[in-house]
This record gives sequence, structure tokens and C-alpha cells, in this order.
Amino acid sequence: MNDSNYRMPVVLLGNSFKYEVEATLKLFFSTSRFSFSDNVSDAQGESYVIAEMSAFSWDKVKLSAVVCLEGSPEKDEITLPADSDKNTCEHELCRLIYHILSRKTGIVPPWGLMTGIRPVKKVIELIRQGLDRDEIQRIMTEKYEISPDKLELACATAENQLPLLDRIDTSAVSLYVSIPFCPTRCSYCSFVSHSMDSAIKLMPEYVASLCREIEYTGEMVRETGTKIDTIYFGGGTPTSISAEDLRTIMECVQRSFDLDNVREYSVEAGRPDTITEEKLKVIKEYGADRISVNPQTLNDDVLKVIGRRHSGEDAVKAFELARKVGFNNINTDLIAGLPTESLESFCNTLDRIIGLSPESITVHTLTIKRSATLFSEGYNVDHEPAADMVRYSVDSLMKNDYLPYYMYRQKNTVDNLENVGYAKKGFESLYNIFIMDETQTILGVGCAASTKLVYPNGKITRIHNHKYPYEYIRRFDELLTKKNEAAECLRILSGSNNF
Ligand code: SF4
Repeated sequence: MNDSNYRMPVVLLGNSFKYEVEATLKLFFSTSRFSFSDNVSDAQGESYVIAEMSAFSWDKVKLSAVVCLEGSPEKDEITLPADSDKNTCEHELCRLIYHILSRKTGIVPPWGLMTGIRPVKKVIELIRQGLDRDEIQRIMTEKYEISPDKLELACATAENQLPLLDRIDTSAVSLYVSIPFCPTRCSYCSFVSHSMDSAIKLMPEYVASLCREIEYTGEMVRETGTKIDTIYFGGGTPTSISAEDLRTIMECVQRSFDLDNVREYSVEAGRPDTITEEKLKVIKEYGADRISVNPQTLNDDVLKVIGRRHSGEDAVKAFELARKVGFNNINTDLIAGLPTESLESFCNTLDRIIGLSPESITVHTLTIKRSATLFSEGYNVDHEPAADMVRYSVDSLMKNDYLPYYMYRQKNTVDNLENVGYAKKGFESLYNIFIMDETQTILGVGCAASTKLVYPNGKITRIHNHKYPYEYIRRFDELLTKKNEAAECLRILSGSNNF
């Protein structure tokens, strides 16, 4: 499984459950690739999987799974009533594969069989059906085999999130401004972020195009009478550009939109080495009331390993500077499972961050996608102390009055763990909730941004801006044409016909 061209053969017989079967296999082999076929002779070599669904008798269907690892095959099977629906058959076939793999590898995924579904969304759905916590826990345990501590976390997060969901105004929209530049690329990064060294020449044109898009979007919002609810500057690292460029962009936002109804205005300052007093003052002057300072770890050696140019102390100083400038809503991001980070070092970082008393702390778990440098370097994600780090973070954050309020999981995350946003009461980020809940339209501007249009009937469509700055600049007029659909959606949301 170490050869990067190797694909484990997976044979599907009598079914087309490719997506779910692959997601189940990824719980155990997060960075592996698979080659799917419906020909049993492809099940060859040391490792393969055969997942079969067939008629057993007139009233029964048979599900069987063979999993072979290192030349040692194991088979399991069950029968279900013939009228079982497709989802049940798919889920139960994956359960067979899951149990064989768990026995063979000794891995017990903390979120059990739950793949492709957001745990908190599922819990909220059950709460809204009127079920109490015990019933919810029973259903989630039986169906997905989630570990008790993760279930507790999902339920607590859902309970804290519910009152915030009630505050969503689905006729209003949020604005996302993308500044996809960073001083250097972190080794775990899989985003489309461009180093400032290579992007600096493009900056004047980028800022000009971004401002044109902001103005165009502002006109669309104004003419349809739409309200802007939250604003989020993300990236990349928005503070990697100069204070002057930041001022130009934020001034353009201020001029293009009516900000009177904005309930939250966040700027992800991000990398501490890009934060200066001048930039913080610009951010404050133009009305942003929430920023993020994201050290990921305060351990200098680990920071070097992940490709950061700043020290832990720089991160603390950037945080203190933000306080001095007057920010009273600061988030900090940390990552559990960074290469070479020990449990002790992670705990020290978290303790120190809690000591700074930010209003919110987000604990991510390291995710390594194919586009990350760590992946191409063959970094092995197994046997990291990430699970213990995450456990420590849940305990100490809750003890210190940080409540979990949003959570998401990603593929290729170390030990199948999760990302959780914690906040002191009253400092939960609305934008973070809206983006998860997918009930509010988000207008994205800038290179690599995407616009999510949520229609009143629940239909969602997305418009993706060009990924690379030079493409974004050169093909800008094409982009504006694509955005006509956004105007159409805003007209429907606001009931206006003027645009
Ligand atoms: S700061 Fe974030 S976006 Fe920038 S390189 Fe690092 S991980 Fe990627």
C-alpha cells in the first residue's frame, strides 16, 4: 500500500455502492486509492475487497463481503428481507466490510460507520423530531456505532448550535471575500493559496479586479434590496497583503454595501507573521469586529517543520497586539496531530492559548490531502497522538467555559477525527454556523471564492470563481456573466424584480 501508483482492487457484484464502500475503506486506509470493477477476476494480489449483493430466496437478499489483507482473506455475510431499500442494503454491506477491517487492522474509528454525514446535522434532525438525548444516543449508536465520547460531543455541539440556527435570516445573505495569498505554503495545506513572493507582481491587478467584483456584487445586492448579514474575509491569509491594499478592499466593501444590518464582520488574520498594528487598525477602522489569529501550535520546532516562518512567541505577541488595538472577539485556530508534535507539546500550547483567553478556539485535526506537500513527502498519518490531543482539548476547553458549537469532519483526517469550534457564550461565529447549515446564500468574491445560492425551495447551486489569480484577472468578464444567476437568486429571495 506504500506505492503511490498502487490501487487496491475492489469488486462490486450486484450493486453500485461505490461511493459508500470507498468512504468505508477510507476510514481504515485514508490515503490509499482503489480501483473499482464488477469483474471478480480483478480481485487479485495480496489485498482486495469483494462486496456482493444477490438474491438469496424469493423473500431474502444476501449481502456478503470478502476482505483480503496481506494475503489473508476473511468473509462475512448476512441476509435481509428482499424488500429492504437501497440505503439499508448499502449501509449493511458497508457494515460487513467495516467489521472485517476493524478486526483485521485493530482500528476502531471514533465516528464508527458514519461517513459523508455531518454528525451534528443528524443529531439536530433527531432533536427536531422530538427525540430526547437517550433516544438519540441509542439510534446513533445502533446505526453508526459511534463511540460514546464522540456521541456526547456531537449532542453537546448540536444543543449549543440549535438556538443559533434559529437566528438565521434566510432572506439575507453573507459575503465572503477571498484573499488567497500566504507568506509561504504550510506543508499540510491543500487550499488554493499562493505565496506572496510569486503573487506580488499581480497584486495591483488583483486588487482592482476584486474591487470591481465587490462593486458589481454590491450593486446587485442594493438593487434587489437584499440585506447583508455577515461578512468574512478569508483565504489564504488576508493580512498577507499590504495595509494599503487591505484598506482599498475594505473601503470598497464599505462603499459598495449597506453595512447597517451586518451582525458579524470577521477577518481571518491568520498567520501571526503577517499581522501588524497598521493592518489591525485598518481592519478595525472599517468595522470588522472579529478576527482570527491562527498559530496552529506554539512549539517553534513544529512551526518550522510545517513551513511557518514565525515563532510561538510571535503568535502570542500578535494576539496581544490585537487586544491592544481593541479587538474583543478573537478566535485562535490550533491543529492536533501536526508532524513531530507530542501530546505534551500540544497540551502546553492549548493551556497557554486558554491562558490568553480568546473568545473562541477552534481545534482542527490534521488532514492530509493529495495536494499537500506532506502527502507527496509520504508522511505517515498513522499512530499519531492526535486522539489524545483531541480528548485533552475537549476536556480542558469545556472546563474553561468554551462550549462546542460547530463541528465538521473531512476525509483524510488523522485517525478519522473531527474539527470543532468552541466559543465562550455569546461569541459563537454566525458565519461558521451558516456555512455548515447551508440555509443562507453566501456571495463569494475574489479568486477561488465560491458563491452558494440557496433558493427558498432548498435548491442549492454554486458558482465557482477562477482558481488562480492570473485566470481570475484575465477572464474576469466571463465571471461576471456567470454571476447573473446570483442576481436571479437574490431577486427571488427578496421578492424584488428591479435588477
Ligand atoms: S496559512 Fe492556511 S491557507 Fe495559508 S498556506 Fe498555511 S494552511 Fe494554507
